[in-house]
Amino acid sequence: MLMENLHTNVFSQSTDGFARRLYSHSSRKILVLLITLIAITLSILFTSIATRYIEGANLKNGLIIATIVAAIVAPVISWIFIDMYTKLQETERQMRALVTYDVMTGLLTRQAFYHDAQKYIDIAERYHEFFALLMLDLDFFKTINDTHGHHAGDHVLEYFGRFLSEHLRTSDIIGRLGGEEFAVVLPNTPIEGAQKIAESLRADLETHPPTLHGVAIPLTVSIGLTSYTGAASPQIDRLLQEADAALYLSKRNGRNRTTLYTGEETIVS
Ligand code: GH3
Ligand code: MG
Ligand code: MG
Repeated sequence: MLMENLHTNVFSQSTDGFARRLYSHSSRKILVLLITLIAITLSILFTSIATRYIEGANLKNGLIIATIVAAIVAPVISWIFIDMYTKLQETERQMRALVTYDVMTGLLTRQAFYHDAQKYIDIAERYHEFFALLMLDLDFFKTINDTHGHHAGDHVLEYFGRFLSEHLRTSDIIGRLGGEEFAVVLPNTPIEGAQKIAESLRADLETHPPTLHGVAIPLTVSIGLTSYTGAASPQIDRLLQEADAALYLSKRNGRNRTTLYTGEETIVS
């Protein structure tokens, strides 16, 4: 599935490697056998100690009972607990994936994007790296829903999610902020490079629209772009506001264009 191919994120960090190994039946059997052997050994040990202090206790009978009880109870209980543990881990993994990845596009969810972007931004500030942030909004998306149906709209969103992950690098941070609005952080990318990337995304989408039942659905995107220029403590919220202001100009100036945020004079291309 698409989401499994995308870059990992702290929300998705795997802590369930052990549980995954337990899923394999053979290793689960070995573990149950091991627990049973330990249980039998301890049971024999305690019984032999106990029979010393219990008057009239029969050591031989005691050991037989201890062995049989441990051999029956330990595998059943340990199998049940291992089963519960692995199911719990699997549920946790699925929930983490839901929080991290947008189900429709396979991109990062809004909260995962904010988290990863801010984490990267802090690193970029520390190591004096350039980076750029893009905000992208599909043009006239409501019309696509209205004309072709909500199902076609969903198909377009899936297509655009795939389009972004295929066109960008795996080190880029790509998120669906909501609806038909997306954001991308391009790490270690000077503004000129970022502008080229944004423009090529825009132009490529226009010439490669999604198709539904063999029919092309015309699709364009408006982009707002901002870059990190070395300000102290850059915040993702602030950068998104800048990119959003530039995106607003792309929309106002006719859509299907890229606008660079430059403070007072924002450049539309
Ligand atoms: P603009 O060019 O100004 O961006 O216009 P627009 O039509 O793209 O934007 P608008 O905000 O008017 O409409 C966005 C639409 O996106 C409205 C909403 O129903 C639709 N939408 C949001 N999320 C989803 C979704 O998950 N699936 C589908 N099919 N539609 C969605
Ligand atoms: Mg839109
Ligand atoms: Mg929108």
